[in-house]
Amino acid sequence: MALTGIQILKMLPKKNCGECGIPTCLAFAMKVAAGQTEIEECPYVSDEAKATIGEASAPPIRTIKFGAGDAEFTAGGETCLFRHEKRFENQTGIAVLISTDEDAAAIDGKLKRANDFEYERVGVMMRNNLVAIKDAGGGDLAGLAKKVMEAAPKQAIILMSESVDALKAGAEACGANKPLLFGANAENVDAFAALAKETGCVIGVKGKNLDDLVDTAEKLIAAGVKDMVIDTGARTMRDGFEDNIVARRAAVKEKFKPLGFPTITFPCEMADDLMMEAMIGSVLMAKYAAITVFSDIQGDILFPLLLEQLNIFTDPQRPMVVQEDIYPITGPDENSPVLITCNFSLTYFIVSGEIEGSKIPSWLLIKDTEGLSVLTAWAAGKFGADLIAMFVKKSGIGDKVKHHELIIPGYLATIKGELEEELPDWTITIGPREAGHLPAFLKEWKPAS
Ligand code: SF4
Repeated sequence: MALTGIQILKMLPKKNCGECGIPTCLAFAMKVAAGQTEIEECPYVSDEAKATIGEASAPPIRTIKFGAGDAEFTAGGETCLFRHEKRFENQTGIAVLISTDEDAAAIDGKLKRANDFEYERVGVMMRNNLVAIKDAGGGDLAGLAKKVMEAAPKQAIILMSESVDALKAGAEACGANKPLLFGANAENVDAFAALAKETGCVIGVKGKNLDDLVDTAEKLIAAGVKDMVIDTGARTMRDGFEDNIVARRAAVKEKFKPLGFPTITFPCEMADDLMMEAMIGSVLMAKYAAITVFSDIQGDILFPLLLEQLNIFTDPQRPMVVQEDIYPITGPDENSPVLITCNFSLTYFIVSGEIEGSKIPSWLLIKDTEGLSVLTAWAAGKFGADLIAMFVKKSGIGDKVKHHELIIPGYLATIKGELEEELPDWTITIGPREAGHLPAFLKEWKPAS
């Protein structure tokens, strides 16, 4: 049962010291109750209170982890139905499926693609992160697990079999890189409970339908298994979509424990061609799938899925930002132009991309505007002449260039006079309004003095 803010407040030291980043204990307690901050942020709370509050404020979808190091994968930890209520926590895992009965060349090709595809977007590195290895019956699951760790070391591993012995051997082969062991069902539930205890691995549970899944999950919970991933058995897009919603609602709204685990879905078993798998996967990703398994990975399906993830899993209450700093672009020197803009990451990447494209080495000053874009930041008083001047002085850019000319965004033309007063040693030049016009502007640019 979730605790109220007042119940949490009673367990806090009530110093009102603000070290948790929130001015009062009452405000902190309210935020913990709302799931907007963690009890660990208060350094003075007792271990006993931490345990009580932590248990009561645990997310309704349990957080699970498997793999290790670069190949660690985290799922779950979700607390809401809709992203705008708070945020979605852990990105959907994208898995490529290989099978013990596939020929070596096909497996090598899939692993190479899984390992090689990587994209950078607004400063974020994006890639698929899981390999699912399916036991087609008597195959060498452990041998394939070793091969995956060598060929695709950034991928966490899912081992799929109904044979507890095959999974145990696979888990041993993975060592510290603990895999997800998928294959528990109503018939083998006791053996999987023992397997979970023996290996310490997360267990994947498959139901014939939602009711069957709940029965099996309840038995595993009763046997002491805490970390699970659940498969409702749905093998059509519609069933998967509906089951995921029912499961998330039951877990978040009703605190229904047997469905309070991340879900795994199999677009690879819902369509015959990869493009259709990707379309189904994109729908399931939007509605709560924690892992989606595809029959192969190709750049043309992976990139749009990663972009969808980026959209869904960024925090809507926190703009994406880059750090306030001086950014040298393509090796500027003391005669290179100096430009300034805000730290909204999209602005930074567009502006820096245009400067790079112009092939004119430049200094780009990024001022912290709390992630607001140029005009919004100016209107909010975070990108005014006084603040820009203060930043230019403390940044040290004056020591890096012979000229003292600052190029400001065209949208800030109205602050030119004010900025000249604040920075009397600098010439202020109004740059273009649109980043797309920067290359032409920079090619014409000469220091004013
Ligand atoms: S750090 Fe702890 S004691 Fe200090 S204000 Fe925050 S909750 Fe209260």
